[in-house]
Amino acid sequence: MPQKEFSPQTFSTENTLNHIKKIAEKPHFVGSKSHAEVKEYIISELQKIGLTTEVQKGYTSGDWGNLSYAQNIVAKIDGSEEGKALVLMSHYDSNPHSSLGASDDAVGVAVILEGIRSYLEAGKKPKNDIIVLFTDAEELGLNGAQLFVNESPLKNNIGLILNFEARGSGGPSYMLMETNGGNKNMIESFNEANPQFPVANSLTYSIYKMLPNDTDLTVFREDSNINGFNFAFIDDHFDYHTANDSFENVDKNTLQHQISYLIPLLNFYGDYDLNSIKSNLDYIYFDIPVFNFVYYPFSWIFPMLLIAFTIWIVLVYIGVKNRKLSGKGILKGFLTFLVSLLINGLIGYFSWTALKELYPQYQDILHGFTYNGHLYIASFTALSFGICFYAYSKIKDISVPNLLITPLLFWLVICSGIAIYLKGASFFIIPVFAALGALFILINQKKKSPSLLFLIILCIPALWIFAPLIQMFPVGLGLKILIASCVLSVLLFGLLLPVFGFYKNKKAYAYLGFVLAILLFASAHFQSNFTKEMPHPTSLLYVLDSDTNTSQWATYNKVLDPWTSAYFNENNTFSEDKIKFSSKYGTVFTHTSKAPIKEILAPTINIEKDTVINNKRHVRICVTPRREVNRLEITTNNVNILSCNVNGISFSEDFLKKRGSRLLTHYISNNDYSEINLVFYATEKPVLTFFEASNNLLEHALFSVPVRPENAIPMPFVLNDAILIKKTLEL
Ligand SMILES: [Zn+2]
Repeated sequence: MPQKEFSPQTFSTENTLNHIKKIAEKPHFVGSKSHAEVKEYIISELQKIGLTTEVQKGYTSGDWGNLSYAQNIVAKIDGSEEGKALVLMSHYDSNPHSSLGASDDAVGVAVILEGIRSYLEAGKKPKNDIIVLFTDAEELGLNGAQLFVNESPLKNNIGLILNFEARGSGGPSYMLMETNGGNKNMIESFNEANPQFPVANSLTYSIYKMLPNDTDLTVFREDSNINGFNFAFIDDHFDYHTANDSFENVDKNTLQHQISYLIPLLNFYGDYDLNSIKSNLDYIYFDIPVFNFVYYPFSWIFPMLLIAFTIWIVLVYIGVKNRKLSGKGILKGFLTFLVSLLINGLIGYFSWTALKELYPQYQDILHGFTYNGHLYIASFTALSFGICFYAYSKIKDISVPNLLITPLLFWLVICSGIAIYLKGASFFIIPVFAALGALFILINQKKKSPSLLFLIILCIPALWIFAPLIQMFPVGLGLKILIASCVLSVLLFGLLLPVFGFYKNKKAYAYLGFVLAILLFASAHFQSNFTKEMPHPTSLLYVLDSDTNTSQWATYNKVLDPWTSAYFNENNTFSEDKIKFSSKYGTVFTHTSKAPIKEILAPTINIEKDTVINNKRHVRICVTPRREVNRLEITTNNVNILSCNVNGISFSEDFLKKRGSRLLTHYISNNDYSEINLVFYATEKPVLTFFEASNNLLEHALFSVPVRPENAIPMPFVLNDAILIKKTLEL
């Protein structure tokens, strides 16, 4: 029977949007009531399609001592052949406590749900088993993925995973690979699957391989050597993990982009021989219009570099011989380029510090990408180009070929460094070749007027490859990295000199750049205040020290708004660092003030066992909440814990060695207890500090905290809106 076509026709965007709306109605972090509702919703949707579902449950701790009880939703479509399975994956939990989790990661769940439904509706019967895996507790420490890898028998036959993720609410979705080996077969098959708008390059692949990654896929790769593709969008970072990660803020083009990956890839990998996906060879790759996707082996890197260097040397030689190049001209070109680079480098280097000085409220945006961040990128880029035009307007007497020598040399040096340290970025050599082509034309042409059209065409690769990177670096890494945009602008300007160099009125272009920069900066200024659409991340905690029976208000805000000012004034600075617990950016309290004592019940802490065996003390402690709680964090003094097991889950020796003061964080579901088994040398004197938190400060009957103003949201990445009880235990 011929396979029916699985095409976008059977796929309904409307269904997808409905799923997102439903899932992202309320925050649905692990342990919350909405989490259970979202779980039931997903299960019922899978059952509607005719799939049998299974919920895999259990405790795990991941690699960083983050314990939680995860419940993965698993469904399987049997393949017609005995091959390896294809997994479609997304996590269905949202970040605690205020994120609505629409982009992160309801979009992923919805695209998979509708993708599978439309796939089956089209009558497709895959050769490979297809496993739908909606992981849980991703936000807490990749716990669901860990649980699956540790315990599910299904993991033994997985050939490939497609994981849909987000770290913002818009922008293009980047394809990022996870593999322990080389990417050759993944790239070749991905290209064969022919997604319509691939956005991927090996620069991100190399950076991604260097960083300690934290997506669910990482767990599968590290623990089971399973390959996978991530499809993740990262723009509009300001919505990430906040109450603004809402259905309304999901970029509908981004959603379409995710769909444009899923349909062809599900079609293709559903039938592909997944045994052949592994490889030892690596490819350079990048996306480009017309050609869609270009790739070539890593082994070409050095030959290409060598050829480029040779061409440069030969062209300099010919140019000098032809009198198109002169020592004086090259030197002036060198100095102008260097000065442009230095000035822009300095501006970029101090830009974020200066912005925070001018707008102190930006310090409360912890990830460092402000709501008006795109305007700053544009403004600083315009300024960089303005400065370049201005600098080059000063050397009108120098001919264009002379100007091009230095930027080409800089790029060749950069490409040499890249060839050693960041191989994936080696496609940077392609625009360099194009610019060498332009240099060739310039030093060989006989007539006075150059073939401008040809030169423009040779500038396109530089524009296509580097212009998006000018934006991508600060979008990806925050405005602190604006320096990358400034420096890259100068380097790009250098490659565009075959065209810009001929501009008669460079000064006018310089002023145009300056005026644009000022206008964009002004526009950013008018969007620098917090509003309902661009809210202020604020934080408030009530901290009760049950040892001393004292209590205080605390906040992480550097800038107080009227809501937080009701609890603190500028004099309530926080000097001592006694209350410190984990947060993504290591944020500490900025202000504390005296608070009334409230009747909040501290947890019961029982020592259930305490024995010494062979000079090692074995202690079992049980911590039981006596109120609604969400999280228990335990820190210790400087003590060597040899073994730690919580609710049956042992922490790795590696973690215990590297852990610092934090021993564990238990993200609690159903007010569950924490049974902690510790082993340490009998000579040690551990002091454990327990921080038990509930995220209900704003709703709690004993407090009458006013509602947050409309222009504020709970600050993400920190424990927030919480009632925190501190208690110590000396062993
Ligand atoms: Zn996520």
